[in-house]
Parts: sequence; structure tokens; C-alpha cells
Amino acid sequence: MDAQGGPGDMCKLEFAVQMTCEKCVRAVKSSLEGVAGVQNVNISLESEAVVVETTLPALEVQKLLESSGRRAVLKGMGSVESQNLGAAVAMLSGVGAIQGVVRFLQVSENNCIIDGTVDGLNPGQHGIHIHEFGDLSMGCDSCGGHYNPEGNAHGSPGQLDSHVGDLGNILADKSGRATFRFDNNRVKVWDIIGRSLVVDEGEDDLGRGTHHLSKVTGNSGKGLTCGIIARSAGLFENVKQICSCDGITIWEERDCPIAGPGRKKGHTNHAHL
Ligand code: ZN
Repeated sequence: MDAQGGPGDMCKLEFAVQMTCEKCVRAVKSSLEGVAGVQNVNISLESEAVVVETTLPALEVQKLLESSGRRAVLKGMGSVESQNLGAAVAMLSGVGAIQGVVRFLQVSENNCIIDGTVDGLNPGQHGIHIHEFGDLSMGCDSCGGHYNPEGNAHGSPGQLDSHVGDLGNILADKSGRATFRFDNNRVKVWDIIGRSLVVDEGEDDLGRGTHHLSKVTGNSGKGLTCGIIARSAGLFENVKQICSCDGITIWEERDCPIAGPGRKKGHTNHAHL
């Protein structure tokens, strides 16, 4: 999965998980036990929080937690070291049912972890790129070209003389979902805030094709879904209470009320669904 070099750095993920008793804690603990790429699991019953260090995509860890029969919601992402160098998020929306969320976490000067999920794609490979402008006034068409501060030709993410915005491809499964996590040594969170992230309709040929657009865009077709890259809270910085009530998908969570009766623990009011 990691097309961008190496096994990847650990990062910390913080989840809100519904837990009411020690039995819940044990079930949640065993859901992560012995899983490769997950370590230092820290469970707090009192704050209904689970913090893990991992190299896995956030959605995979969330699915493992939910295999315990409890709802989990990602609350934050941070470096294993105490200090974050920066974090950002792009909420993607586009044609029809396509939507996604992609997080950027600068874990060191030389590594930006890019973690995301995009739903509603046609199965197969889709080019994904950081574009120069955070302008969605004409949808993905007003985002400009691939972010390219060094004036290079288009290429693959592992290649030093490619566009910095070239993130390669993401693979959508039969259900239309792409879940991914890359380590990227050229993207810096502080350079991309205010720009945009675009997922294209076709596969990026990584500059190796014969089409005249190969060295410009990878000939991956038009942008299907895009979002502005915005600064985001790191680990433990998200002070809003995240409800982990049953039935909320990762997409509905962002529409969940941040206060009021709908936020109360153990509530039965699912009006926000
Ligand atoms: Zn490019």
C-alpha cells in the first residue's frame, strides 16, 4: 500500500469509543491485540478514549475497534513525539455520492503522513494530487495545476524531479472505497495549507505514458472530487466532544451537533441522522 517509500513512521491516533464498563475495555483491548502495525494501546474508560500508535490507515484501526461491537470515531492524529510539526485536513466532495476525508500529518521535517478514505469512486486506480490553488469556485476546474514549486515535469511521488503535488494513485475497491496511507518526503504541511486536493476519474500514468498530457498531469482525466486543505487540530487538541452514538458514519460525524442534548452520553436522540 505504501507506494511512497519505506514501511512508514508510527503516528498516534486518538479515537472516541463507546465504553461503559471494564468489559468494554477488555473487548476493545482484545480487538487490537496482536495486530501488526499497532502498538502502545492506551484505553481510558473514564474519558471513553483510545490512543494507539500505528502505521495502519486510520480507517483500518477504526474497523478493528468497531469489531468489538462498539462505535469508534477518530478524534485526532498526532506524532509519536510530543510535538506536532503541523496537521491539515481536506474534506472532499464532488459529483454524486463521492466524498472523502484526507489527513496530512507532518511527523518530521522529512515525512508527511497522508491518510485518507474516499467513497463513491468507480473501482480501480485514481490519480490523486495536491493542486496549486484552494479555489473551488468552479469545482475542481479552478484548482490550477499540480502543486509544482520547483518547475518539474509530472511524475511519481517517489521521484525527486516530479511535482511536489504528485501523490500517485489510490485504489478503489469493488464497493468504491479507497483507503490509503502514504509517507511522503517532499510534501510539507506548512506549504500546502490553503491549496487543494483533487482525486481524478482515471489512473495517473506517473509521467510514463505516451499521451501528450503524461508529463503534465499523468493523463488521469478530470477531477472528480476536491477539497481545500485546511489546518487541523492535532492529537488531544480537539476539545469538542465527539459523540460515538450508534449509526453515525464517518461522513455524518462532521454534521453531528457539537453541543446540546444530542451530545449527551448514552442518548437515544438520533435526530441528527
Ligand atoms: Zn503532477
